[in-house]
Amino acid sequence: MNQMPFLRFSPRLKSPFTNLTFTMYRTHNCGELRIQQVGQEVKLAGWVQIHRDLGGMTFLDLRDRYGITQLVFNMEDDADLCKRARKLGREFVIAVTGLVQERSAKNPSRPTGDIEVQVTELEILNTSKIPPFTIEDNTDGGDDLRMKYRYLDIRRTPVQQNLIFRSNVAIETRKFLTDQGFIEIETPTLIKSTPEGARDFVVPSRMNPGRFYALPQSPQTFKQVLMVAGMDKYFQIVKCFRDEDLRADRQPEFTQIDCEMAFVTREDVLNTFEGLTKHLFKNILGLEFGVFSRMNYDEAMRRFGSDKPDLRFGMEFVELNDLAKGRGFGVFDSAELVVGVCAEGQAEAYSNKNLNELTDWMKRPQIGAQGLVHVKVNADGSFKSTVGKFFSDDDLKTWAEKFKAKPGDLLLILSGEAEKTRKQLGELRLEMGRRMGLMKPGDFKPLWVVNFPLLEWNEDEQRFFAMHHPFTSPLPEDAEKMMSGGDHETLKGLRANAYDLVINGTEIGGGSIRIHDRNLQMENFKLLGFTPEQAEQQFGFLLGAFDYGAPPHGGIAFGFDRLCAVMRGQTSIRDFIAFPKNNMGRDVMIDAPAAIDDVQLGELNLAVTLPQKA
Ligand code: ASP
Repeated sequence: MNQMPFLRFSPRLKSPFTNLTFTMYRTHNCGELRIQQVGQEVKLAGWVQIHRDLGGMTFLDLRDRYGITQLVFNMEDDADLCKRARKLGREFVIAVTGLVQERSAKNPSRPTGDIEVQVTELEILNTSKIPPFTIEDNTDGGDDLRMKYRYLDIRRTPVQQNLIFRSNVAIETRKFLTDQGFIEIETPTLIKSTPEGARDFVVPSRMNPGRFYALPQSPQTFKQVLMVAGMDKYFQIVKCFRDEDLRADRQPEFTQIDCEMAFVTREDVLNTFEGLTKHLFKNILGLEFGVFSRMNYDEAMRRFGSDKPDLRFGMEFVELNDLAKGRGFGVFDSAELVVGVCAEGQAEAYSNKNLNELTDWMKRPQIGAQGLVHVKVNADGSFKSTVGKFFSDDDLKTWAEKFKAKPGDLLLILSGEAEKTRKQLGELRLEMGRRMGLMKPGDFKPLWVVNFPLLEWNEDEQRFFAMHHPFTSPLPEDAEKMMSGGDHETLKGLRANAYDLVINGTEIGGGSIRIHDRNLQMENFKLLGFTPEQAEQQFGFLLGAFDYGAPPHGGIAFGFDRLCAVMRGQTSIRDFIAFPKNNMGRDVMIDAPAAIDDVQLGELNLAVTLPQKA
């Protein structure tokens, strides 16, 4: 095959996508040509999307990551060329030379739709099998097929756009943080397994038989050590690994924008990362925000039943204990909390059948509600309710007033143990928000949730866990209470100097001011059930560092994949990862995880029997 078909022709146009001049294969990309270039001779290269043969003409859509340009081959001008074009299959890779001309039938839905390229030379750079799914914005490929042939999937515009978007977010993050004096420092990937948090992925050490590295769940301890080392503003866009069951917004390996700062208070950290968030939204989406709202954890739970409330809509909780208990309705009387939401204008939309379906939805094990009480506020001021037997219209009127309900509204009420009921109602609120179309795309509501509990009681294990992680400091006013021990309830009430950034009901990131005092850190380990020996064994290096002048410090990490998804109004982080794992944690393209042979197992000291040497 002639390797250099175009050398005699060299317009030496600067490629718009690099500073280099590439003229061997293409002078322009497939998304670039406009009416202004009519009359120019150009070279394009890309993949054959489709061709249509109409009598004497063949039209071909040529695609690269910049767009699609229509090519035209004319039987009358060059029958041979036209016949060759007709033989091209989908996804063949070609390079063409031709003349830009105005189209007679324009395509306003395409940026290049005013022009076409009348081809004079065609070179087939490579052939292709017929792809297993259509490479178009809406493909017929299922998830597994798309992942198996991810290189074909990535040829599709929506996937490409997500990856380009992700690259832009990374660039802007680096720009902002670097401008603020942060230094990007890499921390190791082969570290030590620790019992807190999620499950670790482990890696056997060949040189240290029977010993294992763990992949970091986050660079938490390293970034704290860097603060002791005096690198007072650290960041890293870093892979983290957690061996957890997967969901749409979880992957076993994911990326964080991980940061730490020394000599800071909570205010400094929040301001810096509010600044980063604003910078990203402004520079990437052109959106500006005012000062972010803040809410205490307790308040978020009370008003929205969630520590990551979606503030794109209201539907706040209304507590009814004073109006609903003590009236002879046993379910309410025995409940710790009666609480509900008002779904505006939904009374008519919800027939009995719909309400039954909604009740079943709430009873699913994922939510676990016992039942759902409803009150419809009728147009004539009367009420229709499941609990009409126990409550008169006058009673229900006082409820409606408390909800500030109008005729046509639907009240949905749950009861039971307070914490559980709030969480269940939180799910119902979100579901109603979804059904009622209240989560408007393009609407972003950022929120800092602050003052989380320090400790979380685990019923099964009968011990406290750190709600954030064991290095999180209590609020200064709670530190003394923590040091002086205290009963179970006091410990449960300790508040952490921890914060989360939430956007539209998604936790974008979280962090805390850290403990930098060895004694306080030891006390925290004690509360978490570590013996001094265990604490020393697991975290001796950090405690040791604290002996050498640890400055006050704090930090945060943003889930980078998640941030990208939220900014693009999407729910699945998978669509922002070039090569994600499936629900079973498998990479179906490379077929991992996979078995390894006995020799390799032997080298790693994992084999029961070593292969015999000849
Ligand atoms: N290391 C923490 C995490 O991964 C974030 C932080 O506290 O900075 O959640």
